[in-house]
Amino acid sequence: MLKKLFQSLRPPVRRVQHQRTTPEVLNSGQHSLQRGQFSRHAVGIVERLQNAGYQAYLVGGCVRDMLLGITPKDFDVATSATPEQVRAEFRNARVIGRRFKLVHVHFGREIIEVATFRAHHPQDEEENSNQSSRNESGRILRDNVYGTLEDDAQRRDFTINALYYDPVSERILDYANGVHDIRNRLIRLIGDPQQRYQEDPVRMLRAVRFAAKLDFGIEKHSALPIKPMAQLLREIPSARLFEETLKLFLSGHAADTFEMLVDLELFEPLFPASNEALEEHPTYTHTLISEALINTDLRIKQGKPVTPAFLFAALLWPALPARVLRLQSRGMPPIPAMQEAAHELISEQCQRIAIPKRFTMPIREIWDMQERLPRRSGKRADQLLDNPRFRAGYDFLLLRESAGEETDGLGEWWTDYQECNESERRDMIRELGGRDESGAAPRKRRRSGTKRKRDASSAAGE
Ligand code: ATP
Ligand code: MG
Repeated sequence: MLKKLFQSLRPPVRRVQHQRTTPEVLNSGQHSLQRGQFSRHAVGIVERLQNAGYQAYLVGGCVRDMLLGITPKDFDVATSATPEQVRAEFRNARVIGRRFKLVHVHFGREIIEVATFRAHHPQDEEENSNQSSRNESGRILRDNVYGTLEDDAQRRDFTINALYYDPVSERILDYANGVHDIRNRLIRLIGDPQQRYQEDPVRMLRAVRFAAKLDFGIEKHSALPIKPMAQLLREIPSARLFEETLKLFLSGHAADTFEMLVDLELFEPLFPASNEALEEHPTYTHTLISEALINTDLRIKQGKPVTPAFLFAALLWPALPARVLRLQSRGMPPIPAMQEAAHELISEQCQRIAIPKRFTMPIREIWDMQERLPRRSGKRADQLLDNPRFRAGYDFLLLRESAGEETDGLGEWWTDYQECNESERRDMIRELGGRDESGAAPRKRRRSGTKRKRDASSAAGE
């Protein structure tokens, strides 16, 4: 009773300018999209669902990217049909997902995702319900309420992601002024930014991802709450953060993404130890990570494969020296200290971002390689060349050098070694003399303790 009375006294919900219940409709002459540009399978699904009496549209990233002249990654369909109704229409359809059900329609290698219109979680109803699907801080834990087309538009994250294209009538339905924001190159949350980040803090990462990918700005009101709310990311399950981090750094715009994450203080909750290194040794840490990411972006552009292990190895490497030194100061010898520090750092990192074992193993191997590459005498150099991790280890060495680590020309030595013939190789090993037993550098340069670790800090110059 009392609750009802309170609710009736509440001020009406503020209608934010970028929410509307009737869409702006853009006819085929008012936009640049053409049905033929979209996946014919996705268009076929929309036609079939419409013929069966359901509403169906192409939606989200594919409409946004097409308007910007970018080739979409995939094509998503939104419909009023329930997953079971969708499945009944297509032989090649599979219902997937537990948290919310979706239908995947398969056409050889292409998969079209068909999602039923979903609704926002009306807060008032939730407060009356015992089975709230939000946690104490307002984060949505379940998100599986079906709704109308308007509901579906309002629960989406950004205005530019809430555009619906009907390939039959060739019209765009715009419920959130997304076309306006595409024209002005702005990432803007639908609704109240603070509330939307609270519901799902990952939206802060998505804002950065789209801003970097599309070269858009983040609209002022959507950007302002990010810093104060960044720590909410700590509540996100580490497995989800792993997926999001991969999307952030394998988007082809990782270098820009990194800058933005740091500026908006989102890097800290994702990589706390690396962030500490960034504060302690800004130049070295920043250069090493940026170089790795610029390289990753380039490889993606060239269609070359990139391994998440190399990426994580680089993101975490600057955090190692402090740990190695701490263990050494407690009396641990250099090599075990390095091993222990690597183990500690990776397990701590996995509490934030659940890096699967298939990647943590190669991270360790890339790091171990850094210990082994200086030791080249006898048959060691040839054995290292045959090691399956040699290439990654060697690339990583070059990366360290590009960030200013002093290795006494080790990278160049290995570059030469790979290029020369058998007898030249023998000469190179002979010329090493005694200087390679425990490190790359000649004795006069070597200081006590782990040489490389000290070099890392001294190269930072801070
Ligand atoms: P991409 O090109 O990266 O695939 P996308 O916009 O398609 O971009 P997806 O992650 O595939 O992004 O999500 C599809 C759509 O689902 C988005 O366009 C958005 O409308 C909606 N969406 C995804 N994640 C969220 C979220 N956390 N909160 C609200 N809406 C979301
Ligand atoms: Mg998508």
